Amino acid sequence: MKIVSIRTHLLEYRLETAFESASMRFDRRSHVLVEVICDDGTTGWGECLGPARANAAIVETYANWLIGQNPLETEKIWALLYNALRDQGQRGLTVAALSGIDIALWDIKGKHFGVPVSTLLGGCFRTSVKAYATGSFKRDGVDRVEDNASEMAGHRDAGFHACKIKIGFDPDEDLRVIKAVREAIGPGMKLMIDANHGYDAVEAVRVGRAAAEYGVDWFEEPVVPEQLGAYRAVRVGQPIPVAGGETWHTRWGMREPIETRSIDIIQPDLCGCGGFSEARKIADFASVHGIRVVPHVWGTAVQIAAALQFVAAMVPDPARNRPIEPILEFDRTYNPFRQAVVTEPLEHQAGIVTIPDGPGLGIEIDRAALKEFRMKDA
Ligand SMILES: [Mg+2]
Repeated sequence: MKIVSIRTHLLEYRLETAFESASMRFDRRSHVLVEVICDDGTTGWGECLGPARANAAIVETYANWLIGQNPLETEKIWALLYNALRDQGQRGLTVAALSGIDIALWDIKGKHFGVPVSTLLGGCFRTSVKAYATGSFKRDGVDRVEDNASEMAGHRDAGFHACKIKIGFDPDEDLRVIKAVREAIGPGMKLMIDANHGYDAVEAVRVGRAAAEYGVDWFEEPVVPEQLGAYRAVRVGQPIPVAGGETWHTRWGMREPIETRSIDIIQPDLCGCGGFSEARKIADFASVHGIRVVPHVWGTAVQIAAALQFVAAMVPDPARNRPIEPILEFDRTYNPFRQAVVTEPLEHQAGIVTIPDGPGLGIEIDRAALKEFRMKDA
């Protein structure tokens, strides 16, 4: 079995209303899917986190080494591609592009052996997972406090057990948002806060101390990802568990935050950290150090499917009669092609998502949707 070609599918939708996190502005949704095609007709799908066109260009660069390889040799191919761009690409887009390819290879491997990726990863511990709703971005022209509170109450009404809100804009306004959201959702729903590295350590400690009374499960990306010392200052300076990791790449990029206990919860992104091949190593390393793993998810149904297979195979840690179950990040912001790219959407039912049990990622791509949402000039 040999890889004969690789294609990228650039997708885009220009939003009617732009929205912002503390560090980014979104006036469109754009993502890139990766399709790896084999000589026996088997096709695998992956996705890359980050700027779509840049990722696509790097995926096409990797094609030089990928064509002709046996797609079942995922570890061998990962090492080959990583080594090919290592000197200028130990983190960032080179690893995101490699992630999309790796996910596609695991999809092929699952299809070849007729089993879901979770079986290849060691076995399926669960058939469904509780999802948490991610939303509350800052929308143009609306009162943020009121907007966030009503949005999160809507997610509670839809059955979600937990939600995550965006902060990191302005400490005082952010605290008003946290208070309003807690009042709107009531005491029974879990609440997480995500600063998208918008604070410095002093602000983050102040916000964390004040926000703790509203019952916050984790404080995500309080400070910029390069400042692990600041992460640790936030961790010891306020009482909410600290989460992070969506912008760290590979086992090497995750090593220092884990070893130095800069975080309580690590959030590798399957489409950014190096794919299944790397995420499993990161999860094992986190487990060795007693750090909880909650994958970051921000993409189409292809990424959701990858996260579901990974979560399915996560070993209960610690082992006990009623273990801590993993949870799935579920983006609730508008993206018309998120689920349209697959023939059977991976939607939630009352906040719970069923894990597909078909071969590979367990999804089928809707090529008409790829055409409909194709990026202009792509
Ligand atoms: Mg985040």
